[in-house]
Amino acid sequence: METTLIFVKPDGVQRGLIGRIITKFEEKGLQIVGLKMMKLSESLAKKHYSVHKGKPFYPGLIKYVTSGPIVALALRGPRAIETCRKLMGATFGYKAEPGTIRGDFGISGSFNLVHGSDSPEAAKTELALYFGKKELCDWKPALMEQVFGSE
Ligand code: UDP
Ligand code: MG
Repeated sequence: METTLIFVKPDGVQRGLIGRIITKFEEKGLQIVGLKMMKLSESLAKKHYSVHKGKPFYPGLIKYVTSGPIVALALRGPRAIETCRKLMGATFGYKAEPGTIRGDFGISGSFNLVHGSDSPEAAKTELALYFGKKELCDWKPALMEQVFGSE
């Protein structure tokens, strides 16, 4: 079982897509164990995207993710990290497959609606950036056996 960090980016919030984006993950069977709206400070945004520091798109990326509120989610399930990345689709909307969040809702080469951790290490670090231990809710879904199976 894995837990991953997702956030609906400011364009997703502004476009009124919070519910539809969260629904994609919920319908898949991922369990929400953390959820909050917040505005990223510049320092948190820079910490989060430190791997991209120095790249040409970095200044625009920081401006974009701090431009308005985001909705952060901690999602749990078997292979949650890879599964969420698949549901999100390729980085840019114009490349992302239909059926994915980015493929269905976006066409931009920078504003792409959603972030998701890309490895177990990133998930661990990113979850700690957005959620305190007490903010994560460790609940047992009633249909857990049916939805998650034996894994
Ligand atoms: N980004 C951008 N231009 C680029 C590459 C990335 O604006 O050429 C932005 C985009 O919002 C992307 C984020 O930077 O989601 C982080 O890039 P990464 O390659 O990690 O993509 P992701 O993991 O979000 O698919
Ligand atoms: Mg990334």
